[in-house]
Formats: sequence, C-alpha cells, structure tokens
Amino acid sequence: MTGHAFINGHILGANGWLADHALLVDGGRIRGIAPQSTLDAHLPATDVGGCRIVPGFIDLQVNGGGGILFNDAPDVDAVAAIAAAHHRYGTTALLPTLISDDLPTIEAGIRAVDAAIARGVPGIVGIHIEGPFVNPARRGIHDAAKIRALDMDGIDIVASLQSGVTLVTLAPEECGLDQIAALSARGVILAAGHSEADFATATIAFDHGVTGVTHLFNAMRQIAPREPGLVGAALAHANTWCCIIVDGKHVHPANFRIAIAAKGGIDHFILVTDAMPTVGSDDKSFYLGGKQMRVIDGVCQADDGTLAGSDLDMAGAVRGAVDMLGLTLDQAVQMASINPARFMRLDGTRGSLRVGKAADFVLLDDACQVAATYIAGKPVYRR
Ligand SMILES: [Zn+2]
Repeated sequence: MTGHAFINGHILGANGWLADHALLVDGGRIRGIAPQSTLDAHLPATDVGGCRIVPGFIDLQVNGGGGILFNDAPDVDAVAAIAAAHHRYGTTALLPTLISDDLPTIEAGIRAVDAAIARGVPGIVGIHIEGPFVNPARRGIHDAAKIRALDMDGIDIVASLQSGVTLVTLAPEECGLDQIAALSARGVILAAGHSEADFATATIAFDHGVTGVTHLFNAMRQIAPREPGLVGAALAHANTWCCIIVDGKHVHPANFRIAIAAKGGIDHFILVTDAMPTVGSDDKSFYLGGKQMRVIDGVCQADDGTLAGSDLDMAGAVRGAVDMLGLTLDQAVQMASINPARFMRLDGTRGSLRVGKAADFVLLDDACQVAATYIAGKPVYRR
C-alpha cells in the first residue's frame, strides 16, 4: 500500500465532521477518508494532534503579500513570494490580483501567472484582473488615470491566459452586453464591481455572463427605496456569487448577516481577503500609485481615509465569519473552499476533501489558527 495517512484529526468531509478517521493521501491527491481502525499498520502516518483537517482555502482576491504588491512586480518570482506569504494562513490556491493598470502591465501580469503555473508554483491557479474597465465614479483607491473603456485590444489581452482561470471585475454599465458576452465566450469569469450599475442594468448583466460581484457593498450602488442598485440585484439574483471581505472594517457585519438571509444561506457567498503587501509582512505600510498607505486600526488606508484593500488573511476571514456573522466553522470553511472553487469552475479538482481531488488541506487548532498547510499532500507551511 502506497501513500500517507493523517491521523488523530477531526476531518471536515463532504458530509460533515468525522472523528476517529484518517485522511489518506497518495500521489498528491486524496485517496480516501477511512476509519483509523482499518488502517494498514505499515502505512506512513502523520499524527495531527487533534487538529481539525479542513479543505485548503481558495482566495480570489490577493493584491499582494509578504511586502510585495503584484501591480509593482508582475513577474513570476513576485507571484511565488506572494503565494508563499499566504500559505501560513491556510491559503492553498489563489488568484494574484491586479488593480486597474495599463494594458502592458496587465499583459505582464498574465504572462507571470502563466509562467508560475508552468513552473508549478504551489497555489497559483489563475489571475484576477480588477479593473481597469470600471466606473470612475466608484473607483475607490484605483487610479483614475488607469481606468479605460473595454475594447477589442482589452478583450484580447485579458482573455490571453494560457492555463488557469481568469476572473475580471468590471462595471457592467461601462462595458456593454456584446463585450461581456465576448469575454464570457472566451472563458473569462466575470464579476461586477467598482460600479454604479442600477438594478436593471446589473440584472441584465447577471443574465448575460456576469456571474459574481466583487467585494459586495464596497464601491457599488447600494440599496435605496426605489432603486435597489447593484447590491440589491446581487442579492435578488439567486445564482450570483457574492465575494465578501469579513474584516469587520470594510462592511458592517450586520449587512453581511442581512445579505446571507436575503439569499437564503451561505451557498453563494465567498470569503476573499483583498490582501495588500502588509499580509504576511512586518511592514504595515506600502506605496500604491506613488502614495503611502498604512494599516490603521486593522485596515489599509490612504491619508484621506480611503480604504486600500485589506490587512486580512484567509484564516482571519474564516474566524471573522464565525465570530462576526454567527456562522459555524464548517459554514465559514465552505465559503473559503468549495464556494470559490465552484465560482471558478475548479470544483472538479479542488475545494473539498473528496476522493480524487488535490490533497490541499489545512490543520486548524482549537483557536482556529493555522498549524500547517498542505498543497498536493506536501507541507508548504508548518508552525
Ligand atoms: Zn476593489
């Protein structure tokens, strides 16, 4: 018998928690979950000491980490360093994320992610291009000078990733249904964000290829009495994925509790970090568009108080979902693993501890802190 067993843990399987079971891994994939009493005594085993074993976290919005901003360094070494900075927080798959920039920088970022995937950099599964096809009126920290209309050049570039998934955040009202359809037809996954779209415009976009929203509530038209806005459209449209930043700062937790109730549960919610270079770094300031940003009271912000991404990591987002949203740990983990995998159409190979999927998992202690992170059955972080 080949492979490896992870024993003495509480395993979050596809149907809930399992005690007295072992997670079996072979060739980088999950071979099974079996009662410990049935294990072959000769099988090499790791005792996880009572930790919970949960599916690895999949973060769809990672601007940076370990002191590096992807926009500043769209190259393969930076991509690898950013991924490594997030492993200690349980992230086993992520999308390096470019905020609005010029097309050559976007092209360089795409080539960097292609190179990282070709090189087998652990955890890189695609790219998130957040802007520049957004609404200047909702740009937030994005540089107004970088925002542009979506044209054929833009479509050709953002659709050019050779392997992995591409997520593009755009403002539907700035793009047009033909262009949305063109991107969708080329396999690009689309989310609405940094947008003034009204309810009707957003709903039509959701019916024509836009399948998610980026940082629900932030940088978009809110619910108003006679105009439910993009927020209302996202909550009213049953299958629209809602990416949320649960740091207790970007959005009042009550808004997320309301949103989850409105959609009838957590099945279309996804925890993202919107992490900046400060995550996994002792340096709690960085430069964005030539301006210094600082972490103050747990959030990255410019001198004028504009939010500039977050200092959040995925394990912190999971804890936040439990502590601030009143969810169970398995619900929080679901929003960090299988839900983003489904949105990215990666759920055939990732997102849960099922036979045949990648052996990407996290060991969590009783305080929900990460004790170890494994990608393809190999440790990428141990405390
Ligand atoms: Zn944003």
